[in-house]
Amino acid sequence: MYINGNWAAAADNASFEVLNPADGSVITQVPDGDGAAARAAIDAAAEAFPAWRQTTAYQRAEFLMRAHALMLERQEALARVLTEEQGKPLRAAMTEVRYAADFLAWFAEEAKRVYGEVIPSARADQRFIVLHQPVGVVAAITPWNYPISMITRKLGPALAAGCTVVLKPAEATPLTAIETFKLFEDAGLPPGVVNLVTAGDPRPIGDEFVTNPKVRKLTFTGSTAVGKMLAGRAAANMKRVSCELGGHAPFIVLADADPEHAAKGLQLVKFLNTGQACISPNRIYVHRGVLDGFLDTLTGRVARMRAGSGLEDGVTIGPLVNQAAVDKVDNQVRDAVGHGAEVLCGGGPLTEGDLDKGFFYAPTVLNGVSQEMLIYREETFGPVAAVVPFEDEAEVLAMANDTHYGLAAYIYSQNLSKAMRLFEGLEFGIVGINDINPASAAAPFGGMKDSGIGREGSREGIHEYLETKVGGFSI
Ligand code: NAP
Repeated sequence: MYINGNWAAAADNASFEVLNPADGSVITQVPDGDGAAARAAIDAAAEAFPAWRQTTAYQRAEFLMRAHALMLERQEALARVLTEEQGKPLRAAMTEVRYAADFLAWFAEEAKRVYGEVIPSARADQRFIVLHQPVGVVAAITPWNYPISMITRKLGPALAAGCTVVLKPAEATPLTAIETFKLFEDAGLPPGVVNLVTAGDPRPIGDEFVTNPKVRKLTFTGSTAVGKMLAGRAAANMKRVSCELGGHAPFIVLADADPEHAAKGLQLVKFLNTGQACISPNRIYVHRGVLDGFLDTLTGRVARMRAGSGLEDGVTIGPLVNQAAVDKVDNQVRDAVGHGAEVLCGGGPLTEGDLDKGFFYAPTVLNGVSQEMLIYREETFGPVAAVVPFEDEAEVLAMANDTHYGLAAYIYSQNLSKAMRLFEGLEFGIVGINDINPASAAAPFGGMKDSGIGREGSREGIHEYLETKVGGFSI
């Protein structure tokens, strides 16, 4: 753990194992922090805050740019650690590291653009001046599926704003977090500005984060259930909260779309990170007029995917995070088949050769998915493309919006008017239109409904870490 500028063990040297999901082997052990460790980290962050907030935006930007340069310099080593503990193919891990570095550079720049306002008053003798100031100590909790970019998407803007931070990364992926903090240390961040607490049991850390009066803001990325619970408790203590939670993205292919292009896009985005992405398409609505061409292209591409350790050349799809994830995906597939869905490829766990040592599931295409199936409602978080054929374009918007989630959605259409109407009508925070990658450090990322509160990235991202203060001056 990294607390007040020192690398620290847990009390009684307690530790937990980090596993490689490709073969179930133990990579190493890391400190198993408890509530007292979280408290010490919060104390350090609180102590470092007054000096850090006094630095200029230009000084903070310099630290962030140094961290950015180090991240790019070390991208290959970081990607290896990430692949080993998380599973995604090395190339995808490199892409994630560069995406993570983007947030450092973007918020280094945004630090300099935290403008205030001068507001005219109705009184001749009065002026209003608005300032934006750092909220204070930020507690951050991140998930395992994007172990490095979820860290910089929070720490980049928090540090740029002048906040100090305590991070608890996911139990499954603490090693990437540790490497990231070494990089912050090497970038010269003063002691206490960033603190890292690793833990096998997240609950005592979460308890401390939501109850400690020194924490002014909680930022969480993870499941909707945990996010709601923590956000509720933090709100009860009047802490600022932002949450990036689960999704159930519709992917809509209209009759006028190019089915091959849409199928290629779907295959790329659906199987990214073995389907373990919050913006992964979960309901793929395809107009019957283009269904055959779409399914042919999709099935051909999916059948050619090669599963294995992300460190092996030629592997295009890695393992799931653990056995529970394999079981959840398999349960959804069996339920769908039981209710009449057709398996076009895949359809079960992969166990041949060495794959049985890891947590592999065959990339799967299901056709004929319908509303009574679990997969139509539950986030899958696995490599299953669930295709829902439809006929009436007038109904597809209502079907797509019929979920309590509201993170990402995708539209494929060559008709600008139809695409625009869908774009405007979809109750989702991020919409790809003939595009499968609507995420960038420059663009706001976040969800509506049960998918979260607040936005990360973009010029909005830094405001999650700023308070607004008005001064009324009588002159
Ligand atoms: P999760 O179980 O909610 O865990 C997320 C983080 O919360 C982990 O660090 C976890 O620690 C911690 N946590 C769990 N219970 C806690 C508690 N009682 N107190 C404090 N912390 C607690 O979610 P996950 O399975 O890791 O992540 C997958 C979910 O994240 C999916 O639903 C996905 O859609 C969502 N996600 C959303 C976005 C987005 O931007 N909207 C991005 C990525 C992922 P442990 O690891 O120790 O359990």
